Amino acid sequence: MKLFDSHAHIDDNVYDGDFNEMLKRASDAGVDGIMVAGVTPETIVKALEIAKQPHRHSNLFISVGMHPHDAQYCSDEIIDDYKRLAGKYPSIIKAWGETGLDFNRMHSPREVQEQWFVRQIEAADDLNLSMIFHERDSEGRLLQILESMNHRERKGVVHCFSGTKEEMFRYLNLGYYIGITGIVTLQQRGEMLRELAVLLPDDRIVIETDAPYLTPAPMKNKTRRNEPSFVKHVFNKLVDIRGVDAQVLSDMLWKNTCSLYNIPLDTI
Ligand SMILES: [Zn+2]
Ligand SMILES: [Zn+2]
Repeated sequence: MKLFDSHAHIDDNVYDGDFNEMLKRASDAGVDGIMVAGVTPETIVKALEIAKQPHRHSNLFISVGMHPHDAQYCSDEIIDDYKRLAGKYPSIIKAWGETGLDFNRMHSPREVQEQWFVRQIEAADDLNLSMIFHERDSEGRLLQILESMNHRERKGVVHCFSGTKEEMFRYLNLGYYIGITGIVTLQQRGEMLRELAVLLPDDRIVIETDAPYLTPAPMKNKTRRNEPSFVKHVFNKLVDIRGVDAQVLSDMLWKNTCSLYNIPLDTI
């Protein structure tokens, strides 16, 4: 059985001390694929270095993007650099993101977030790259933008989905995937997400850790730092609440993630 962590930040320096051991634990847990989500040019340089090295088990891919928190530091030069990188490493760079809107923390002004979100959608469309959307408390604004810029061919995932049922179905209508994090394992905080995760069509779910953040239960009691091997706990919870066979679900999630990121199934 193999699992794909569709969103993790393993370039984070919290792994500097035990990077290889962390990857070994991932492959021991059956996590054979990891998408390292980019957030700034600096994180992407590091993620690319990591992904370019040969790894024994895990297949590493990366995405290029400017997180809404950092939207105020985005520029045409950065977008052009990302485009150049994507052209140079087509077998490693498989998505554009994280990009989107985060009106919860407001690290960048709203208009600036929106401006660079739109620009990044256009850039990803130019390159035919799938997108990783980050949405928090945008009160429907992100959906509005996606609906107004709808593009039949565009693939994307709403990572760490935290919206309402109505929002979830609007994303599904646009053809996007929904990323389920360890929040689904948390007794109180995960209640709503568990209800919604049961309603998702088989072919639109992907699982993720968003490591080092959002450590799932029961690991949460042992360590604060999340890591890709823990995506297994997200998976187990889905098996449980959807009442499906584990092998069937893992095959489905693997296929979904490869399809989302345009990763040919026979190459990994
Ligand atoms: Zn995010
Ligand atoms: Zn993330």
